[in-house]
Amino acid sequence: MSDSANPFFHLQEQIDDAAAYLPTLDNDVIARLKRPERVLETNLTVEMDDGSLEVFTAFRSQFNGDRGPYKGGIRFHPDVSRDEVKALSGWMVYKCAIVDIPYGGGKGGIVIDPREYSTSELERITRSFATELRPLIGEDQDIPAPDVNTGQREMNWIKDTYESLEGTTEPGVVTGKAIDSGGSAGRVAATGRSTMLTAREAFSYLGRDIENATVAVQGYGNAGSIAAQLLEDELGATIVAVSDSSGAIYSPDGLDATAVKEFKHETGSVSGYGGAVEEYSNEELLTMDVDLLVPAALENAIDTTIATDVQADVIAEAANGPVTPDADDVLAERDVLVLPDILTNAGGVTVSYFEWVQNRQRFYWTEERVNEELERVITDAFDGLVTAYEERNLPTFRIAAYAVAIERVARAFEQAGSWP
Ligand code: GLU
Repeated sequence: MSDSANPFFHLQEQIDDAAAYLPTLDNDVIARLKRPERVLETNLTVEMDDGSLEVFTAFRSQFNGDRGPYKGGIRFHPDVSRDEVKALSGWMVYKCAIVDIPYGGGKGGIVIDPREYSTSELERITRSFATELRPLIGEDQDIPAPDVNTGQREMNWIKDTYESLEGTTEPGVVTGKAIDSGGSAGRVAATGRSTMLTAREAFSYLGRDIENATVAVQGYGNAGSIAAQLLEDELGATIVAVSDSSGAIYSPDGLDATAVKEFKHETGSVSGYGGAVEEYSNEELLTMDVDLLVPAALENAIDTTIATDVQADVIAEAANGPVTPDADDVLAERDVLVLPDILTNAGGVTVSYFEWVQNRQRFYWTEERVNEELERVITDAFDGLVTAYEERNLPTFRIAAYAVAIERVARAFEQAGSWP
């Protein structure tokens, strides 16, 4: 991986960019806030269905625990690397801080293409990782959750492995579980919901109408597809283009977000959807002339080359790290408003927090309550970001988000005092 594509360097650059506007923050504290506290690297030897053995490298980075237990997902992807996991765990720290939930940040991943393995193989791989993680996780220590290519099924396996080995019931050891295994109403839709809410608040801040605004969504997994559905159903926006790894589909009058999701569910991709007028590449989608662009796939989707050609007025980062720092500078110069990932996609971890609270109380909320509380958290965080942006005269929403978040983490660190 080249330095310019290394997400861990991107995270560090984002922290430095914001720290430049925090003159009272000591340099040694900033240095601490730029590195993970610890990283587990483990090699899992797992039996395949045919009796052979395969070894999978896996990581868990615990970046910072000053505000509470480490918190963050586990992804299954062939491109998972130590530096990617470190970056993702750092973004979790500042994500939990900007929405002010009492967590630090962590992240894990297994280097694997899950499509190449059977369900029983995936179950053994996941349980093997959960066994390695057991001494590090717990509802007061580190709480995994879903991320790219993981979901309720994997979280249920992790919970069961942990509880079996510990001889206890502790559903709050992991979030994003199925409802019958202690999951929360509204968790699956939460990342898409916060993306919708952040876009709504941003359009209102700009004095623009989101109803009938045109939207392009890159990535049609959990975050992208639900963001598209909610933007369409709850705000009346027009989803003109969506994409996945197979390419992009486009219709100027609007695609039916729910019908596209069903089509992808049946066929495995969005390409070939009958309601589309034209098909494009992913890159073409990112530079379409739309009001709102939602990158909802992986890191580094928008680099400087693409940023120069972006025609959207607003970018809502449903993915983690989709815009590189250099691309951020280009977009700021071109007056494209970027809604930073640490706020935009924070709905997932916020409803994970609600799930954890419900698990600990053994008292479950209605979906209506979850959605109301989520809306309050996201709109309060948006307002706090805008206040910092305006009152401190900060150059971008990302810098404002990091400034608020870094201060919160630094205060918790400083208030803990020193211990020999
Ligand atoms: N993987 C999600 C994220 O990147 C959710 C994390 C969580 O719920 O802990 O924010």
